[in-house]
Amino acid sequence: MEIARNVEEIKKKVVEACGRAGRDPQEVKVLAASKTRTPSEIREAFKAGVELFGENRVQEARDKIPALKELPVEWHLIGHLQTNKVKYAVKLFDVIETVDRKKLVDELEKRLSQLGKVMRVFIEVKLSPEETKHGCSPEEVESLARYVLAKEHLKLEGLMTVPPYLENPEDVRPYFRKLREIRDSLQDKLGIPLPHLSMGMSHDFEVAIEEGATIVRIGTAIFGERRY
Ligand SMILES: *Cc1c(COP(=O)(O)O)cnc(C)c1O
Repeated sequence: MEIARNVEEIKKKVVEACGRAGRDPQEVKVLAASKTRTPSEIREAFKAGVELFGENRVQEARDKIPALKELPVEWHLIGHLQTNKVKYAVKLFDVIETVDRKKLVDELEKRLSQLGKVMRVFIEVKLSPEETKHGCSPEEVESLARYVLAKEHLKLEGLMTVPPYLENPEDVRPYFRKLREIRDSLQDKLGIPLPHLSMGMSHDFEVAIEEGATIVRIGTAIFGERRY
């Protein structure tokens, strides 16, 4: 019941944030970040109305996604993708949100063409210099986007970012705004629509929605504190 109540509370906040920003709530999807969660917790979130799920690690997804194949949900990879895991990732996921380098694009295209599958992808952009975070720099995005667009089996749909954790969600706002500005200018330069902005987590998703998020990735606020 806890999970259902949490999801309901989040959806209410999504609607309110959309109201403040003059946006249509239909434009914003809640993705449940389900790392460390069990299949039964994931089923509960699905029953409560969550349609998108995100996993961080390919190995964990290999154990979990096949066990949940009866659920009509979308699986997103939201963690760093190592090149040697691409052969598994292309089979498991519907969307890869963390494309951040050309070598990864090459490997994805190779494996996807073998499978005969087209993958929806986002480019992960790193907006702060912290060395621990993955993602391409804002300066590299255009070149990487053009590289992705040239591949037959990749469909570029937007951008994703993991900003630094800052206590006050208002302090994260400039990062969300920056990702939207990068997206807007990229759309102009490339002349194609890039509808998705995946940004915002449990403690700052309302601000992210005010700045244009179409996918908010929420773990703790749905499932409670993570147990490792
Ligand atoms: C875990 C995770 C989230 C969700 O974080 P919470 O703070 O638990 O909501 C979102 N995005 C990514 C990439 C994550 O790894």
